[in-house]
Order: sequence, then C-alpha cells, then structure tokens
Amino acid sequence: MSGAAVEITGLCKSFGPLEVLKGIDLTVLPGEVVCIIGPSGSGKSTMLRCVNILEEPTAGKVVVNGTELTDPDVDIDSARTKIGMVFQSFNLFSHLSVINNLTVAQRKVLKRGEKEAQEKALHNLERVGLSDKVNAMPAQLSGGQQQRVAIARALSMDPEVMLFDEPTSALDPELVGDVLGVMRQLADEGMTMLIVTHEMQFAREVADKVIFMDGGYVVEEGPAADVIGNPQEDRTKSFLARVL
Ligand code: ADP
Ligand code: MG
Repeated sequence: MSGAAVEITGLCKSFGPLEVLKGIDLTVLPGEVVCIIGPSGSGKSTMLRCVNILEEPTAGKVVVNGTELTDPDVDIDSARTKIGMVFQSFNLFSHLSVINNLTVAQRKVLKRGEKEAQEKALHNLERVGLSDKVNAMPAQLSGGQQQRVAIARALSMDPEVMLFDEPTSALDPELVGDVLGVMRQLADEGMTMLIVTHEMQFAREVADKVIFMDGGYVVEEGPAADVIGNPQEDRTKSFLARVL
C-alpha cells in the first residue's frame, strides 16, 4: 500500500460513445494541494467527480487513503463521507438555516448527537469567518458567504480530502478573494485538496502541483512554477496564453 491520500490509475470515463477521460494517472500525497487547470470540456469536473464516485469510472482505479473506491465490494456511502466536495453553485439547502446546513449530514450520515454536531458546526463557521451568520438563511447571504458556508459544511464532516470544482467561478469578482483566502488557510493547515480552478495566481501561490488537462488526458504536470510559469507543451502554452 502506498502512502498516497489519493491514487488514481488508468482512469477512464465514457458517457455512451463519448470518451471523456482517456487514462488519467494522478497521485496526491497527504497534505498536498493539487490544482487542475485546462480548457472547458477537457474532463476536469468528470475527473473530480470520479474521485468520490459521483461518476462511476468506466475503467481504472481510485484509491483514497488506502480504500479502493472502485472496488465493487467497498461501501461507497461510508467511504464518501471522508471526501468533502465544494461545487461552483454552492448547493446549500435553501430551506435550512446556516447552522442546520452544517448539522444535518453530521446527524443523519455520521449519527452525531445534536450537541456535538452544533459544536463542530460553530467551530467550522468560525474557521471560515462566518460566526455571525449562524441563524441566517442562505438567501440572505452573498455568494461568497454561501460558498464559505458550503466549505464549512464540508469541513464539518471531518474530511480527509477536499475536492473543489471551480469554487469561485460563480462569484462576483470582489467576493472571490474571501473564498480563496479560506482555501489558502486550509492549505496552510495541511488539508489535502484537489482544486479545479481558473485562478492562476492562486494556483501559483498555493498549489504543490499543477495538472494541465486537455482532451481527457493529463498533458503536463509539475510544480506551478513549471507548468504555469514555464510550460513545455504547446497545448499548455496556448491555454495559458488565453487565460493569463
Ligand atoms: P470540464 O469540467 O473540464 O469543463 P467536464 O468534465 O464537465 O469538463 O466535461 C467533459 C465532457 O464530458 C464534455 O464534453 C461534457 O459535455 C461531457 N459530459 C460531462 N458530464 C456528462 C454527462 N453526465 N453525460 C454526458 N456527457 C457529459
Ligand atoms: Mg467543469
């Protein structure tokens, strides 16, 4: 067994005749921050969704902290509780207050008692700087605040790995910094994170490793200073020329 937090080997995913992932290999070590960049449609979201089997891989292996999630005998619901996911569209429960957004899965999935769930929720709201919004409803919050609540909700499950799919893409520009600030803080605390992002400056500063995907392949990977700062592949160069 390797010491990797996430080990992806030969990952393929097709939707009918459409081959989206064509053999992805990726190793994420505990505490590493990996940013995934690449053009729209290159398979970034599909790859991330295969890590927690929100999409079922067509072929290949996904191992998270020693558990092979692609093993049909593995209890995927249980394994998935250790993987937090944050989406572009926040996905809060609109009819629940902030605190209840943070406690419901703790109680229902992890079977935590109300007191423990509340304490965990309050602690994580503090981590994202929203202690004063405990009783707010999602609609009363800005997009940036809603996304920070979504992050706090994921953290309340005590995940071993956090997946972020373009967490700032739906935000007004002035709200992006607060969310990236929370993610930077998590990185500093040693959280293992896979982040699909178009925020190249953030990737340069925070990522231990950057993956450039195109056409269902990992085209280039390495330290941010290399992949973003000094790309070797033509496809990486032309992508960066368009986004930087
Ligand atoms: P990215 O996140 O890099 O923009 P995606 O992983 O969302 O790319 O999509 C890659 C390709 O897979 C696209 O052509 C998209 O239309 C297709 N795709 C994604 N999800 C599905 C699905 N559930 N059914 C059919 N096609 C899909
Ligand atoms: Mg996507």
